[in-house]
Amino acid sequence: MLQKSPISVEELADVKKVLVRYVQRQNFSLWFIKATGKTNLRVLSQSSPVKRLDPILVDGIIRVGGRLEKTPLSYEARHPVILPQVSCLTDIIIRQCNVNAALSSANHTLTVVCQRYCILKAFVAVRHVIKNCPQCRRRNAKPAQQIMAELPPQECSWNCHRSLMWGLTTSGRYWFANGVAI
Ligand SMILES: [Zn+2]
Repeated sequence: MLQKSPISVEELADVKKVLVRYVQRQNFSLWFIKATGKTNLRVLSQSSPVKRLDPILVDGIIRVGGRLEKTPLSYEARHPVILPQVSCLTDIIIRQCNVNAALSSANHTLTVVCQRYCILKAFVAVRHVIKNCPQCRRRNAKPAQQIMAELPPQECSWNCHRSLMWGLTTSGRYWFANGVAI
């Protein structure tokens, strides 16, 4: 029977864990076959992009190992979840971080993302999401330039003189316009 009560915070966190595990298994399947603990993760091939992140396996999720264990940071910041560059979950997380960062620049959004997640080629992924975000595109659009009307005939003649005076005086030479020394 379906439960009709609102979704709790714990349930949302569990769903996020399930999605992260699914995405990691889809993209890092070769490593999951071998991974039964931190020791086994450390013997992965040197060519894998995750190798340099010193990965650890916690609760079925691959996280960054690192050297920040004794810092006062939160657990999520010390061991961010590793995500691939291209996946729907990565895009959704970046989009949410972009909204949390008040639709700010790619650098600021990346800072917010890195507080909890370690995305491979993160800056490229963030720029891709921001480039396709309609709100950010509208916000970062260049202002339109108003096309000026055509000049009336009297302005045209005066404008010729004015441009002549300007062009010649900036060249450092003295010229006369309308009989007056400039
Ligand atoms: Zn945006």
